[in-house]
Amino acid sequence: MSTPGPGAPAVLAAVRRALRRESGPVALHEPEFRGREREYLLQCIETGWVSTAGAFVDRFEAMLAEFTGARHAVATVNGTAALHVCLRLAGVRQGDEVLVPSLTFIATANAVSYALGTPHFVDSEERTLGVDAAKLERYLKEVAEVRGEGCFHRRTGAPIRALMPMHTFGHPVDLDGLAALCERWRIALVEDAAESLGSYYKDRHTGNSGVAAGLSFNGNKVVTSGGGGAILTNDPAIAKRAKHLTTTARTAHQWSFVHDEIGYNYRMPNLNAALGCAQLERLPDQLLRKRALAVRYQEAFRDVAGVRFAAEPEGTRSNYWLNTILLERPDLAVRDAILEGLNHEGFGARPVWTLMHRLPMYERCPRMDLAGAEALEARIVNLPSSAALAG
Ligand SMILES: *Cc1c(COP(=O)(O)O)cnc(C)c1O
Repeated sequence: MSTPGPGAPAVLAAVRRALRRESGPVALHEPEFRGREREYLLQCIETGWVSTAGAFVDRFEAMLAEFTGARHAVATVNGTAALHVCLRLAGVRQGDEVLVPSLTFIATANAVSYALGTPHFVDSEERTLGVDAAKLERYLKEVAEVRGEGCFHRRTGAPIRALMPMHTFGHPVDLDGLAALCERWRIALVEDAAESLGSYYKDRHTGNSGVAAGLSFNGNKVVTSGGGGAILTNDPAIAKRAKHLTTTARTAHQWSFVHDEIGYNYRMPNLNAALGCAQLERLPDQLLRKRALAVRYQEAFRDVAGVRFAAEPEGTRSNYWLNTILLERPDLAVRDAILEGLNHEGFGARPVWTLMHRLPMYERCPRMDLAGAEALEARIVNLPSSAALAG
């Protein structure tokens, strides 16, 4: 018999200590409206600017660029749409393969499908909970080759056009390692930064290392616009093309309707941007409180046997979107007992998403050995993470 895993009662006690309350209901992640949300929304109604154009959209984009340090931000209707367009911007075409982690939310893989590409699943590491750069390098040496300006998967013959890593729960991936890998293998880097607004790799805000990056402002994210997303890029030509593709590819003219390619109606409505602006104004304060909550969890779990708090990777600053504990050893039964124990007391704890390569539409996609992701799946528990829990 192996040693027992951490007990559900010990985990429950630690969560009670961190949150300073005996029971719930406590949601996994709730939006909070403590700023000028009402005022800005009323302005939309009073001026009639509620839909796909308006001053709040421009302001939201300017605020995002300023906060992230990206030269350009293009607001979109949601984060999945932003990722779809990011892949188009990276040159992904029908039949191309795109390397994505299997350990991610469905949007990452679906965006590849919308761009008519094939997700090619790669493994994740414990240190960052994101793509394992060293393992991916070894894998590419086995299965891929660089020919001319592109990388090709030898078995399928398809181009491996892009890599889209994801900053899991706000923890930045090894961006320098992955950028160098992409350079060597002639693969475009696109970041799924949907969970990492307010997260920094070294001194760089996430979303600044590749061709483009996608953000999300869904209701459960750090900043919400109700629904929404954005594309970040540092290349003015790519920004221009992002705006064109997301606004039905209409050519600029006062009254004529001419579209020069198949674009998308992926514009963010002004109503949503108004909410987003009010939220962004309060983001620095919110990030401080999320950090304070993470510190409380870290302390509460310091002496709990068999489990550890997933702190930000060295050299990074995480937004701690979702606080995470990791079982020392993968064990679905132990994980589920912990989830049961917490949810029974009203604490909204969750497991990680079902891995992409287990889903029916993606089970036949190309993939490398996914032992790292599979182990993490049986180790991860997400804990209630709203900033309001810290005050
Ligand atoms: C939230 C999220 C998205 C985008 O989601 P939308 O609901 O479309 O805004 C994309 N990728 C990841 C990893 C996410 O968590």
